[in-house]
Amino acid sequence: MSTDSELRIVWVYPDLLSTYGDRGNLLILAQRARLRGIPVRTEEIRTDEPIPAEADIYLLAGGEDAPQTLAAERMLDDGGLRRAVEHGAIVFAVCAGYQLVGSAFAAQGRKYAGLDLFDLTSDRGPSRAVGELAGPVDPALALPLLTGFENHGGRTHLGPGVRPLATVSVGVGNDGHTEGAWTKGFIGTYAHGPALSRNPALADLVLRWATGRESLEPLDDTWHDKLRDERLAALAARGKDLRHAA
Ligand code: GLN
Repeated sequence: MSTDSELRIVWVYPDLLSTYGDRGNLLILAQRARLRGIPVRTEEIRTDEPIPAEADIYLLAGGEDAPQTLAAERMLDDGGLRRAVEHGAIVFAVCAGYQLVGSAFAAQGRKYAGLDLFDLTSDRGPSRAVGELAGPVDPALALPLLTGFENHGGRTHLGPGVRPLATVSVGVGNDGHTEGAWTKGFIGTYAHGPALSRNPALADLVLRWATGRESLEPLDDTWHDKLRDERLAALAARGKDLRHAA
């Protein structure tokens, strides 16, 4: 993003990919940018519209199996997200959106081609992963504990081109051991919550990448902290106390 222009954030296919309040990720990013005086333009690109290739940040959200397969087909035909990534755009992808940016995913008993933008692939697990998801983030990112909730049937396997976003302390994530994936300019996660509300430091990482700023002025995170504290207290009540690592 050039310093005098606005930050363009695109939410891809809200009509297909929009489970569990993941739209909150768009609201959180836009608000945290505006509070720093960064002008923002948000765009919600529906399935019947072309995906613009010139935006700064692309958000992909969760979705049920059938909409997910439709979204994959449309995005492959469209090509806009691929062009955007080639230009250096940032991608933040959750659950179905996370699976979609890999080389393949499984749904409705079949294997589907993904967008093959990042080095990961998904298949199906033995059971649905439903519940809280938490664990320490890759130390290279210097972020606090990841917290969220998950609801997915898929399992994700990472290639050498990406690193796990976190290690799983509670929940399943990719495979019961690691959760999500990242490489510079890309974050993929199974965490809903919305993820960027439960993890505002992750939102700021995305904003730093997109703006090229090394640091952003701190914000009042009272409400985010309250939400994190509540969920971590709920885990502690079930015998998994991660508050020391939060
Ligand atoms: N349909 C995918 C799965 O079940 C993703 C689910 C979701 O986005 N919540 O694995």
